[in-house]
Formats: sequence, structure tokens, C-alpha cells
Amino acid sequence: MMQEAFLHHVWQFQKFNSLSLLSTQAEPIQVLKVGYHNAHAGADFLEAHIQIDDVEWIGSVEIHLKSSDWEQHTHQHDQAYGNVILHVVWENDREVHRHDGTIMPTLVVKDLVDTHLLQSYADFMAKPTQILCQGQFEEVPYIRKLGMLDKALLLRLEKKAHYIMEIFAKCNQDWEEVAYRLLAKNFGFVVNAEPFVRLAENLPLKCIHKHRDSLFQIEAMVFGVAGLLEVIEENDEYQQKLKQEFKFLSAKYQLKPVVEKHEWKFLRMRPANFPTVRLAQWAALIGRNANLFSLMIYFNDTQTIESLFNISTSSYWGNHYRFGKSTETKVKSFGKSSLENILINTVVPLMAGYGRYKNEPMLVDKAIAMLEEIHPEKNHILDIWQELRLPIKNAADSQGALEWMKSFCQTKRCLSCEVGLFLLR
Ligand code: SF4
Repeated sequence: MMQEAFLHHVWQFQKFNSLSLLSTQAEPIQVLKVGYHNAHAGADFLEAHIQIDDVEWIGSVEIHLKSSDWEQHTHQHDQAYGNVILHVVWENDREVHRHDGTIMPTLVVKDLVDTHLLQSYADFMAKPTQILCQGQFEEVPYIRKLGMLDKALLLRLEKKAHYIMEIFAKCNQDWEEVAYRLLAKNFGFVVNAEPFVRLAENLPLKCIHKHRDSLFQIEAMVFGVAGLLEVIEENDEYQQKLKQEFKFLSAKYQLKPVVEKHEWKFLRMRPANFPTVRLAQWAALIGRNANLFSLMIYFNDTQTIESLFNISTSSYWGNHYRFGKSTETKVKSFGKSSLENILINTVVPLMAGYGRYKNEPMLVDKAIAMLEEIHPEKNHILDIWQELRLPIKNAADSQGALEWMKSFCQTKRCLSCEVGLFLLR
């Protein structure tokens, strides 16, 4: 089935017989400049130069499968389409008019597009594989793939920056609070991210800062608001003491449990990743540092950031993975892979978001340089890329490859992908 994305490709690269073009009103058309592709709201191509019947026009080009889509999308009432100079369509099923009642110059390309291109596009899009170009991926030059990895990485950072700005707006524009909430989400490691976020949203950072000299009190607030002090495990004196302390602190700051115990997931998890262990580590990290945000953004070397996450929990969590059960073996401290996860999912997005906010591109460069120093992640999506022999040497590559899959392959945006453009050239 014909897709608008294909028509954009046809227009952008002029993949049609452009000799002696005529509009639906039989006016001669000459394309002087196709314009630049607009991925945002408004017409599809901006600043095009088109000669129509001896007059050169500069303006936008709008592309549709059917001419009637113009009215279907109510463009005739939209100012953003007021300077469209040419309507390019696959099929002309209705004459459409501008806001002022004049006929919109329309070019129909259905009979002008090379049938070979049409067929190869249809064949390509009909492939049954998850990655449509799977059988041809190896024949694409390496430089194209590298270019696409870079493009996808930048898109990912842009999306992360956007997400950070959303949190920033919710946090009264307080960057320390943004870092605090983002770290909470990250310490939840996907399965427990949601309860972690709810906890951070209901335990103000200022309460933590007021008790920075007592990890015990911080733990009382963290585990109390996390709903893990409601039921005391048999003979667990430490948990009982935390409960007592929380009773006092909750009255002082109007805190209350916001997560039910059963909402914390322990199943199919290594004990070192149990939410109780992660909560204890998070409590130690946020309690020890009053300016985590600045420390994470403006560190000068890897050792500084590594020492920031060299987390010492309270002694109780040295031999407990959860309340009520001690363990003979020492509980593993915050390891290298956990640190790298935090760098990728908290520190890098913060740099991208703050860099965008402050208009400091150096911070985005710093984020990319940091990713290049980190090991690539491992998951089934990256296994697919490995099978296609896409070299994934570091976290910058793995982040780019994940975004590539999500925003291009899975949504079949092959005509916006360097590999797809090469194969369908
Ligand atoms: S988006 Fe690119 S890599 Fe993905 S299937 Fe399409 S052409 Fe292949």
C-alpha cells in the first residue's frame, strides 16, 4: 500500500520524470528547489522554489496520497499552510482550494514515478522479517551505518533532553530535585521504577537534606514512605527502630507511606538487585551529597564520578538483602555495571537536558564522550544488531542502536534511515 513517507522520498530526491510537468490545471511546472524536509508541525517541505506558468514562487510544498486529504486535514483553515505553493499528490480525487478560494496548484505523480522504484519499495516493505533490510544489510557501506548510528544517538539524546525538561517543569525548575527523582527512577531498574518515582515525589528532598548527618533517619524516611515499615518482620530490631523513628519524622514532616509492600517486586531478581538493597543504596547516596546534580554534571574525570557512586550503606545492609533475613555472605556493594547503568540513564540525560536548557552544546559533547568510555549494554535488541554484524563497541553505539531499532526499524521508517536510502536509491 502506498505510504506518504514514500511520496516524501519521491519528492525529496525527485524520483520521478520531471520533464514537462503540468499541474492539474495544465500549467507548466518546473521544480527549482525541492525545499527542506520539515519534521515538525506545518507543511512537509519548506522554502521550496517552484516555477508555475512562468512565475517563480517561494514557499511550502504539501504532500498527500489523495488531494482530498487537504480538506480532510482541514488545511484550508490553517494559517500554517497559508504559504503552500504546490500540492503534490499520488491521486487527484478532488479539486482543492486555498483559504482565499483560488485553486491550489496540484501535481499528480502517480504516472511519473519509475515503476522499478515502486516495485522495489513495495517488495522491501513487504518483507516478513523484523528488520526489513536483514538480507541486504551487509552490502551497505560501513560509513552509512556509522552515520545512522550517530543520527540515532543524537535523536535519543534529544528525546532524553525533552524528557528531562518535562521533569524540570514538574519540579518547580529545581535541578537538584530533577536529579533526585531521576536517580530514584534509575535505582528502581525498570521493574521497580514506578514505586521508586512515587516515593521520591512524596519524600521532599529538603527533608533528606535536613537529616544529612544521620543515615539512620534518612533510611527511616525512605523505608517509611516506601511502605516497608508497616509490617515488622519477626525479631527484626533494626526495622522496629526505623519504624519508631519514622513515626517521629512522619509527624514532623507530614510524611506517609505511598507504596504498598506488595508493589515492590522481588521475583526473578538477583538479591543484589532487590528493591530493599537499592533503597538502602539510594538513601546512602542522597543522604551523603547535598549537591548531587552539580557533582554529576560538572565532574572533571571518571574517578570523581566513580567515587561519587562508591556507596556505603548502613551496616545492617551489609548482611541483609531484605528485612528479617540476615545472610552469611556479605551483600555486594554497588558494582561497576550498576554504576554504568546510572551513568547512561541518569547522568547522560541530565547533561543533555541541562545542556539544551543552558544552550551549552559542550555538555552534550561531554555526555557523548562519556558514553564512548562505557561498556555497551546487553539485551535482545542489541543481539539482533550483533547478528547483523553492526559493530557495537561502547555505550554510545548501543544507545544509538537501541534508538535506531525503536524509531526507525520498528516503525518501518526505512526512508528516513541511511541504510534504507542506500538500498532504495
Ligand atoms: S530502518 Fe533501516 S536498518 Fe531498519 S529495517 Fe529499515 S532500512 Fe533496515
